[in-house]
Amino acid sequence: MTGPTDEEIRNVIMPLMLSGAKMLDKHCPKCGSPLFEKNGKVFCPVCEYRAKKRMERAKGVEERLLEKLNELAGSLPSDVEVLEKHLSAMEKIIDLIRKYRELEGEK
Ligand SMILES: [Zn+2]
Repeated sequence: MTGPTDEEIRNVIMPLMLSGAKMLDKHCPKCGSPLFEKNGKVFCPVCEYRAKKRMERAKGVEERLLEKLNELAGSLPSDVEVLEKHLSAMEKIIDLIRKYRELEGEK
């Protein structure tokens, strides 16, 4: 993990400072961003932001995979050999979706 980027400073840290959250003189051990305190809770806004972004990305991927899966399921070929390839592709997609869900479940 690297320190906060310009984009993160602009979109995460600055609005937080303006919102009245207290910036502490401690830094996040993971990303080096200053830690903040709000409603008695200390947190790293950059790590939270990154986790959220990661989740959104995973969601987008999952949606596209599901779409493709539906498409494949809706057009099963009658030729057995082609069908086999088709099904193995579907299997891979299902596998990928499962992995993505596991990834999301980690948080
Ligand atoms: Zn952090």
